[in-house]
Amino acid sequence: MHIKKQRLLTPGPTPLYPPALHAMMASDVHHRTQDFVKIQAQALASLKEVMDTTNDVLILVASGSGAMDASVSNFFSHCDKVIVCVAGKFGERWQEIAKAYSLNAVVLQSEYGDVVTPARVAAALAENPDAKGVFIQASETSTGAAHDIESIAKLVKPTNALLVVDAITGLGTMPLDIDNWGIDICIGGSQKAFMIPPGLAFLSISPKAWERNATASIPRFYFDLKKEKKMVEKGEGSSWTPNTSHIIALNAALDYIKQLGMPKLIENAQLLAKATRDAASALGLELFAKGSPGSSVTAIQAPAGMDSGVIVKAFRTQFGAVIANGQGSMKGQIFRMAHLGYFDFADTFAVIAALELILHTNGHKVTFGSGVAAAQRVWAEANQPKA
Ligand SMILES: *Cc1c(COP(=O)(O)O)cnc(C)c1O
Repeated sequence: MHIKKQRLLTPGPTPLYPPALHAMMASDVHHRTQDFVKIQAQALASLKEVMDTTNDVLILVASGSGAMDASVSNFFSHCDKVIVCVAGKFGERWQEIAKAYSLNAVVLQSEYGDVVTPARVAAALAENPDAKGVFIQASETSTGAAHDIESIAKLVKPTNALLVVDAITGLGTMPLDIDNWGIDICIGGSQKAFMIPPGLAFLSISPKAWERNATASIPRFYFDLKKEKKMVEKGEGSSWTPNTSHIIALNAALDYIKQLGMPKLIENAQLLAKATRDAASALGLELFAKGSPGSSVTAIQAPAGMDSGVIVKAFRTQFGAVIANGQGSMKGQIFRMAHLGYFDFADTFAVIAALELILHTNGHKVTFGSGVAAAQRVWAEANQPKA
């Protein structure tokens, strides 16, 4: 046996930023003290800065889905007509939440790997002028596809509908101009590009959404965002016991992201995604989201006749690395390489080198180094000395 380091290479949870983990050890703080209220205020201010928004931002003790749930229960009423864009497992989650709260959902469904185009959203808005909301993923993590949020936001902005974006893997992997495009609710989660463990969800809330909140009648209790906003504004911290350890860690990670600059974090993911796509193509593999591949994760189809589970399992047993299989009906068909958050080129070179070995062992013809070389070319181009 040789040394195998454990590596978590999935699109959530993602690799952890070590200083954030170290910061977490100072969690012996009471949440109703001014010391902690200051820490939380700093986290909220930093989130607003990296999300580049003047809208309110709130933090919830939940995984990302908690903020998805809250964004329905706080801004809608039973039977409200809403347009739900579904291009994968996370779009299906919007559909399920809408159903749970008895919304009247007009579902725009796309094949897995495809996206819901702005043209379809435009047509749905024209056909349903009474629509109260449009729900979508920025990045559909289950397929690797990214939606054209800018174009869709332009269509929704002049209507009465709220644009609710699950940007849980969109934040930090693609530009999202919340204020200028008019994203009413923009949702993030701690275990994605924010480099800390699962346990926090956050969301930005536009004035248009707060206006709707005044009449939205779905019952809510734990995730009462208006109540939470009041607590924050009164300087009293949070409605309930906040996830102190995670908020402390989040501050450390946000300091790093601010130092890097959000555009650089996004560019980092975009370059790693391009390196991975180029490597896949050099190895004769097909992408799953051919038309609109995003940069949070690259979904690659297993070679014909090979179950993607074999690749995922070999990563774990031979290299100690956890990568993601497909979800639902995509299980066995695709494997997913993540790029969001604390990933770098060295991770990417290693993953591609391991992939070459795994493909070779399982009978797929590989010229060793061809995938790695494709990724190296992306690094070389991005790091060219300026003339
Ligand atoms: C990870 C993720 C979520 C949230 O899932 P949780 O398990 O609740 O954190 C939601 N949407 C997308 C697109 C995601 O990638």
